[in-house]
Amino acid sequence: GPMRKTLIVGNWKMNKTISQAEELLQRLLQRIDSRCPAEVVVAPPFTILAAARAQLCDTVIGLAAQNVAAEDMGAFTGEVSAPMLIEAGCGWVIIGHSERRHQFGEPDALINRKVKNALEHGLKVILCVGETDAERDAEQTEHVVHLQLTEGLNGVTPAAAAHVVVAYEPVWAIGTGQTATPAQAQEVHGLIRRWIGELYGPDTAQAMRVLYGGSVTPDNSHSLLGQPDIDGALVGGASLDVDLFCAIIGSA
Ligand code: PEP
Repeated sequence: GPMRKTLIVGNWKMNKTISQAEELLQRLLQRIDSRCPAEVVVAPPFTILAAARAQLCDTVIGLAAQNVAAEDMGAFTGEVSAPMLIEAGCGWVIIGHSERRHQFGEPDALINRKVKNALEHGLKVILCVGETDAERDAEQTEHVVHLQLTEGLNGVTPAAAAHVVVAYEPVWAIGTGQTATPAQAQEVHGLIRRWIGELYGPDTAQAMRVLYGGSVTPDNSHSLLGQPDIDGALVGGASLDVDLFCAIIGSA
């Protein structure tokens, strides 16, 4: 839509050491500057965030974490909290990625607590939703995505919702090379915008960005981003390749 700036987010997943990341970001920064019509955010692993912040400060590229704890501090071995991410220089956090939901068993109630706590600390949230292969086959896509959306945003105020981006990522399309067709994606994106309207009213629904994720490449990004309710992309594999990532950004 005309009022929604295209957002391209690179989810690096569990890839890159600090030195590898510095090289990748250096190459990315040679290609992305203030003339870029899209907003660009990268989401490296936790260990890279501080070094990435040092490299990205005073640039147009934003910084996201891939996960966050629901609590601020305490006996939660292995977790990283929102205040820690803020001080490390993150402006954003991805919450409820399908790998967190399915490989690490994160339920909607936990994802909801993470969303609310991250927003309270001033992080912008990329809330991921999406159905599995089996759920789509069973014609449960609408039900599953609606539930993930409403549970994920339960108790999030309209003011806080202004700092939320939704990423629709059909699980069967993530890392599989099997992309949703632009029409398949648009159908769910349209529903998500309608549901946001039911939760928060038409102004929030028109303003909120809904990203598509799942095997986005330069070959399919233009047609996906051309759909009326697709406002950007959450890019996994292709975000690790500067040429591919920049080509996706350029197709926006
Ligand atoms: C993702 O990790 O969110 C993702 C969509 O991965 P890929 O682009 O590799 O399918």
